[in-house]
Amino acid sequence: MRGGEAVTKFIFVTGGVVSSIGKGITTASLGRLLRNRGFSVAPVKLDPYINVDAGTMNPYQHGEVFVTEDGAETDLDLGHYERFMDVACTRASSITTGKVYLSVIQAERRGDYLGGTVQVIPHVTNEIKRTILQVAKEQEADVVIAEIGGTVGDIESLPFLEAIRQMRKDVGPENTMYVHVTLIPQIGPWGEVKTKPTQHSVYKLREIGISPDVLVCRTEVPLDEDVKDKISLFCDVPSRAVVESMNVETIYEVPLAYEEAGLGEYVIEKLGMEPREPKSAEWKALVDVLKDPRESCRIAVVGKYTSNGDAYKSINEALIHAGIPNHARVDVRWIESDSLENGRPPEEFLEGVDGLIVAPGFGGRGVEGKIRAVQYARETGLPFLGICFGLQISVIEFARNVCGLSGANSEEVLDDPAYPVIHLLPEQKGVADKGATMRLGSWPCNLVTGTKAAKLYGTTRITERHRHRYEVNNDFREKLAEHGMVISGVSPDYRLVEMIELPDHPYFLATQAHPEFKSRPNRPHPLFSGLVKAAIAQKARVAAG
Ligand code: GLN
Repeated sequence: MRGGEAVTKFIFVTGGVVSSIGKGITTASLGRLLRNRGFSVAPVKLDPYINVDAGTMNPYQHGEVFVTEDGAETDLDLGHYERFMDVACTRASSITTGKVYLSVIQAERRGDYLGGTVQVIPHVTNEIKRTILQVAKEQEADVVIAEIGGTVGDIESLPFLEAIRQMRKDVGPENTMYVHVTLIPQIGPWGEVKTKPTQHSVYKLREIGISPDVLVCRTEVPLDEDVKDKISLFCDVPSRAVVESMNVETIYEVPLAYEEAGLGEYVIEKLGMEPREPKSAEWKALVDVLKDPRESCRIAVVGKYTSNGDAYKSINEALIHAGIPNHARVDVRWIESDSLENGRPPEEFLEGVDGLIVAPGFGGRGVEGKIRAVQYARETGLPFLGICFGLQISVIEFARNVCGLSGANSEEVLDDPAYPVIHLLPEQKGVADKGATMRLGSWPCNLVTGTKAAKLYGTTRITERHRHRYEVNNDFREKLAEHGMVISGVSPDYRLVEMIELPDHPYFLATQAHPEFKSRPNRPHPLFSGLVKAAIAQKARVAAG
């Protein structure tokens, strides 16, 4: 909490030279340095695309859609923020060009501008500033860290850069800081380190009126003092503020590397914040386990978008986190669900894996492949976790192969299935718009005492985040239960099946929610830790023959 006198500080993170330079991890790590000092931090992502939110974007192109507690469908960078900073982002944490223009145009239609000509400056830039300030106010944060998507020089990001330039004047230079993430490439036969792209990228920023206070330099080799001095001279930042950022073994090591490079101390000093000793022990301990685990196991993830490594980002990270309490490295085998449909038996794909996840997804493609994978896990005792669509698939599989309801399917997959065991949520009937219309965000769920789910969570009252239109059809609840499927979690009004499990299996659980969004390295999610624990046991069992 802030003291009575305290004002919010603003850190703006931009990127130069190339895209995918790691602004998200830098922003997230910076947040961790402040959190380690006990400051409250509110992250914001400013995305230049015209989509109002990421909900309508294809995961192939854009990676995972991250869902916040309050049900916003956002960019996957918010996932990094939540995991590194251990905070909960809100709808306000994600600002897109589409969202900004939508509210400016709505205001214009209402007549709010009283006959004025509506322009990028000041109307659009004011709206951007308003939304950033709203986050500061709503979350009463000591520091707001705002990352600007895209690369300096992009046409699309100009209004955002102009808005953050103006903010230095609005809230005071002593309360703002510009961090620019840039690349120092090596070239030529001797691998010479080149600073020119960084200089150019800083010139580009200056053209807009922003002079960076800190340069985070991505580099493959350590930067000599003379290189830092050169960057300092040409880019007008103190040598101390030229921070070398080398590749590290695990992304969770980045905050430790930045701390070591003096970034935390510099930021605090520059923003005139109270100097505090950073408490990094917990973070250091988890990084130590990640770098030197005792055990290992392999989990297969079957999904529709596995060829884009970012499409299941939070699941991948949740598995890494789940390794920590088990002192294990978790290797992931990504399996495209289509490939399970070409007639080859699932054991060919699942050979050597110790656990299976069926990932969230939409539409019919690859569904039969997923069903075969679940059947294999159910019949062979392979630990299984079904996530959202994964729960629906496991119910279809069980209905068909255990309850004898052949032709069972989801209404999402088939128009008029013989047994519609998965059907549209009642409130979804008649919904035509695709954007922000699913069952989204955090919902409560009651777990049945004595179930594996209740044991794993250590409580019977939980909340999890959701993003779906379909659900288990209650007409089939009894039939599923008769044949041994336990409905271990339901909505408080009993209307919705939220979790299922098979008691006679070493680990067979599925959830209608997305537990991956709530996993943190320092607080791994129990469903994932449970899966990894069961996978290690499975590996030992197989080894023992
Ligand atoms: N397609 C399914 C539904 O809409 C599952 C969604 C998901 O896996 N997130 O219900």
